[in-house]
Amino acid sequence: MNVHESEKLAYICEQMGYTATDKREEADLIIFNTCAIREGAEDRVFGNVGALKKLKKQRPNVIIAVCGCMTQKERTANYVLKTFPFVDIVIGTFNLPNFAYYVEAVKKGRQLELLKEGEIDETVPYKRSSGDNAWVNIMQGCNNFCTYCIVPYVKGREKSRSEENILKEIKEIISEGKYKKITLLGQNVNSYGHDLKNGENFAKLLRDICALDGDFKLTFMTSHPKDLTSDVIDAIRDENKILKEIHLPAQSGNNRILHLMNRRYTREKYLSIIKEIREKIPNCKITSDFIVGFPTETEEEFKDTMSLVKEVKFDGIFAFMYSPREGTVASRMDGQIDEKIKRRRVNALLKLEKEIQKEKRNGN
Ligand code: SF4
Repeated sequence: MNVHESEKLAYICEQMGYTATDKREEADLIIFNTCAIREGAEDRVFGNVGALKKLKKQRPNVIIAVCGCMTQKERTANYVLKTFPFVDIVIGTFNLPNFAYYVEAVKKGRQLELLKEGEIDETVPYKRSSGDNAWVNIMQGCNNFCTYCIVPYVKGREKSRSEENILKEIKEIISEGKYKKITLLGQNVNSYGHDLKNGENFAKLLRDICALDGDFKLTFMTSHPKDLTSDVIDAIRDENKILKEIHLPAQSGNNRILHLMNRRYTREKYLSIIKEIREKIPNCKITSDFIVGFPTETEEEFKDTMSLVKEVKFDGIFAFMYSPREGTVASRMDGQIDEKIKRRRVNALLKLEKEIQKEKRNGN
């Protein structure tokens, strides 16, 4: 999502007459398009922004902008403004389409602004730069409020683009003839259309895209298990253009932890979806995400995650140590787990994953 939003910024910059450079010292405009998902990423942004102080002193006309999810949080935006007074523009995700306006304002005299939640922008195209893959955003925001996640606070509530606009964008992509793959993007693509109330839904969208003429493959991310319906699985099975792959974050294999995470499915429900996918699409590649060391997670509960991974034998997993994000419910929970324990658990999970992949390669 962040990479795709940067493609929008790149288009705006190009329209303003800027060209890209690899060398910071040569740049007239330096933009940090940030992501707020993990605290480590934020710390790196602060380090990188701080390192520009000297450059700004030497070349005061360089415009420095910090944008994106991180600065959508008012507190972080204020922190950036206060700590790095040489930064010219601090705006959140929702104001990216107005980026040119901010740059012009800075050129005329300094201006810094924050942003409130807004509508999906349909006015600015993208300067696509992801090879033969074209990202297509189908929705923004999330209503799920998983207790560890910052997204609903920085991306706002779920808003779906109209199917008409999505199909129009995809027809343009196909007509360019450069893209072999189209990847639909959303925090929770399976709930696409819930807010439109005119019968639009994700399964229908997938089938309507596949009905377009053209030689392309279609995929999407990310799916939430509670919203992955049989209709969507059927569409993946039936449509040749859809890649047989699903990324389905489980996060934990233990029901108490899933409940604390507010994931709104159980281990049993998750396993029943996997069973349905495998029965209907035997060659489907299934990958997942896991968080270990969620507050109060016991050793036994962590073993439930290990046993789920063993049982499903995913085609790949991403395992993360739980990291508290300020402002989320989980960050205020008692029973935060010691870093050493989290590290031990994540290493155990990754070791198991390695063994499973080795077994799979050997055909077991
Ligand atoms: S569904 Fe995904 S984006 Fe939405 S709150 Fe949960 S983890 Fe965050």
